[in-house]
Amino acid sequence: MLTVEQAIMLVARYAAKLPAVRMALGDALGLVLAESVASDIDSPPHNKAMMDGFAVVASDRSPTRVIIESVMAGDVPHHAVRPGAATRIMTGAPVPDGATAVIPIEKTSQVDEQTVRIDWIDPPVGKHITLQGSSLRVGHQVAEAGTTVSSLVAAALTEAGAGVVQVIRRPKVAILATGNELVSTDLRPGPGQIRNSNGPLLVGAVVEAGATPLELPVGRDDRVELTQLVERGLEADVLLVTGGVSAGAKDLVPEALVAAGVQKVFHKLALKPGKPLWFGIAPRPVGPSRLVFGFPGNPVSGLACFHLFVRPALAVLSGRMDTVRLELARGRAADAYAHGGGRETFRPARAMASIADEVPMVEFIRWHGSADLAGAAKANCLVRLPVEPLTVSSGDEVAFLPL
Ligand code: AMP
Ligand code: MG
Repeated sequence: MLTVEQAIMLVARYAAKLPAVRMALGDALGLVLAESVASDIDSPPHNKAMMDGFAVVASDRSPTRVIIESVMAGDVPHHAVRPGAATRIMTGAPVPDGATAVIPIEKTSQVDEQTVRIDWIDPPVGKHITLQGSSLRVGHQVAEAGTTVSSLVAAALTEAGAGVVQVIRRPKVAILATGNELVSTDLRPGPGQIRNSNGPLLVGAVVEAGATPLELPVGRDDRVELTQLVERGLEADVLLVTGGVSAGAKDLVPEALVAAGVQKVFHKLALKPGKPLWFGIAPRPVGPSRLVFGFPGNPVSGLACFHLFVRPALAVLSGRMDTVRLELARGRAADAYAHGGGRETFRPARAMASIADEVPMVEFIRWHGSADLAGAAKANCLVRLPVEPLTVSSGDEVAFLPL
């Protein structure tokens, strides 16, 4: 059977960066810049006072100065400052011509309406003044292509005048939960029924991965209905189907996917939980193929498959990662654990970072298998355990995938 590593390489073969689009900066949070951005202004735009006080000629030694005008932030000065004169100035305001230092208000005292005493003689030239363009020059790069638009980057782009940016498009992910037993999350299940927990699990995981979810109605275990829903799901860049991919009499999803034109890449791999995973592609006339994943119905299987394959694929589609690969973190087992082996396993666990320990301690929480969503909900990572049986002792190094 296919190994996890081989399966990741197959997903990597088909995951590619989506095309770039132009959009308002306000909509681009979390997206990746497709072009470098240069500033349309100097920043600061003028020589700027960094203190509330008086703009003076630094070499002026006169004990008192005539106040020639007041300049608040947002004002512009109208008079040059010469020896014997001072301009009252507030933080952020443009420094008048002739002034070469700003004396903080605390180092001055008002003599009368027109006169101020300066208690700091011989301040260094440039004191409490930030020069025009010292942070950014017009035409200079503020962010390079490939940068993710964080709130901080968005603020710098705003300063530089980039109100519209060219970014890699946000991936759209359709979610199709299937199964005759499913009722919507707000209903009390009747006999034989269960709530559709995969819906909210995957909608949330897609949002957390920076993509746009598109939840389809629950699909009944019916070949025709499933095929129609899959066709709708193929309007997205990625389609996640849950349930109906194993060997049961009502496991009709693989047939429906193929009927809708999806080409199978692999079905089943040596993974626990998540062995029945189905993966295929639906090529488009232009641009990268749509990626289609059929997850087993048990929620924790879907959780593992999402984080192992879909999350890195979305990072590639979004331009944040160059290829699909697993990024495992390292920790130490907080307690002993006996792993039975058989398949490569990604087991729910809790990684706890502490200031005292250089690596996080990883606790093997109580968990009863792929249907145990309540147990898994206490986890924040999946510990990787090998195909071979393994006795983990307390303190042993473990690799884990953060959730
Ligand atoms: P299946 O993969 O369709 O054989 O389903 C495996 C198990 O997962 C069964 O016990 C299903 O009832 C359960 N299951 C399937 N879909 C969901 C879902 N959307 N939410 C919660 N459990 C599900
Ligand atoms: Mg089913």
